[in-house]
Order: sequence, then C-alpha cells, then structure tokens
Amino acid sequence: MKFITIFSSHFLATLFTLSIVNATEWSYEDQQRWGGIQDHNQHEVPHIYPYAVCGIGQHQSPVDLATSHTSKKLNNLKFRYYADKPDFFNTGHAVQVNLSNDYQGELLVGKEAYPLIQLHFHEPSEHVIGTKTFPAELHFVHVRDDGKIAVLGVLLETGKDNSVFQTILENTPHQEGELKQNSNVWLSITNLLPEKRDEYYTLAGSLTTPPCSEGVDWYVLTDTIEISETQLAQLKSFFSGNARLKQELNNRAIAKKK
Ligand SMILES: [Zn+2]
Repeated sequence: MKFITIFSSHFLATLFTLSIVNATEWSYEDQQRWGGIQDHNQHEVPHIYPYAVCGIGQHQSPVDLATSHTSKKLNNLKFRYYADKPDFFNTGHAVQVNLSNDYQGELLVGKEAYPLIQLHFHEPSEHVIGTKTFPAELHFVHVRDDGKIAVLGVLLETGKDNSVFQTILENTPHQEGELKQNSNVWLSITNLLPEKRDEYYTLAGSLTTPPCSEGVDWYVLTDTIEISETQLAQLKSFFSGNARLKQELNNRAIAKKK
C-alpha cells in the first residue's frame, strides 16, 4: 500500500511536471493558441492567461504595410550603431546576436535615444506588403531605461552575399538555447542596414513572440538588404517558418516617411 502511494505521488508529480513543461512551450505551428498559453512561473492555471494579449490585443504585430499613408511630419531616424564583439545566441526560436553589456550603439528617433540590445532573424518575413512576403526579416531591438521598446525591421531579399550575415551564421550555436559568449568576433552592425535609411513605415505594435506585449514602436525601412540563396538556406537550417502571421490593424494607421 505504501509502495502504491509513493508510486502514485511520483506518477502524479511526473504528470504535473510534464503539464507545466507543455504549458510553457510555444511554437510557430501553435501560434493561434498563444493567447491561451500559461506562463511557466505560475504553478496554478490562472484565471486570465498572461499571454492573453496575443489573442485579444488590438495593437498586435506584424501587419500588412500596404495601406500606409505618406506623412512629412515624422521624425528622422539616426543610426548610431557601432561595431561590437557580441554574444551569439540560438534562442530556440531564432538566430540572435546579443550586443555586449557596454555597447553604446543606439537608434535616435528625433531626439529620443533607444539603446540597441539585440538583433535577430525571422524566416520568412513577418511584415508583408500586400501579397508580398520577403524571404527573411531582421529585427533590431532597442530598449530604453524606462522599458520603452522600439524595433527596427529590415526586410531581406536574395541576391548578393552578405559578409556580416555570414559571420553571424558561422558563430551561432546549432544547439537550441545555447549562447556563445566571449566570441571575440567583431561585427559591423551598420553593414546590416540598407543604403537608404531615411524612408520607413511606422506604427504602434507589439512583440511578435509571446508574451506579445504592446506599446512597441515599430519602424520598418522601405529599403531592403540582400543575402545570397545559400545564406538563406543556412538560415533555414537553424529555423524555418519562425514568423508570426499578419495581425489585424484594427484602429491603427500606418504612416510612411518619405
Ligand atoms: Zn522579431
């Protein structure tokens, strides 16, 4: 009897652990359910799921940028991106570059400075323009001291080889969740930007992965950068289809700076 009790409680504990693990994991195949995924820090099923905003948020990203209207009143963007020896991170969902702790690079939106924290790739693009989806999309994530987030999106097309992108591919660990620190590899961040940097789409949106938090300012450059077909294939060997589907605009307008 004692044995059975121990066995049962162990069995229940195992089941409980499994259910927690399943609840924390999210995948791109499962994205319609992100609004119902439980946060791993909670031991009981909450009444309101913490990722609910993925499902019920009204300012979600990405979106279709086709309905933009040109505005002359928008801020200028200034890129103060410097070279860095970053960490290379396989997040389990994307190829990511984490800038070093003392990195000084930032994006200026008008006079407002947003420090660059990390950049990562999606395949294919998350933002679309009408029926056009791009082969990939690069996100530069900037976080201000007060927590305000600005993401710069750069759409990727296939064409010429990109040497900075190659350095990223060659240094990113293939093991999911693995971080390569102290790489001692210099990366020229500016070389990941297109030539034309003064035209962009902008709107208020969200993180495109759980918890899908809103209040994120989006800037997507109209000009693109190129990577080769071989490099695109290499990116896909890490993650393919790691893109959230387009979300409803609801009451938002997309402005385009010319
Ligand atoms: Zn992203």
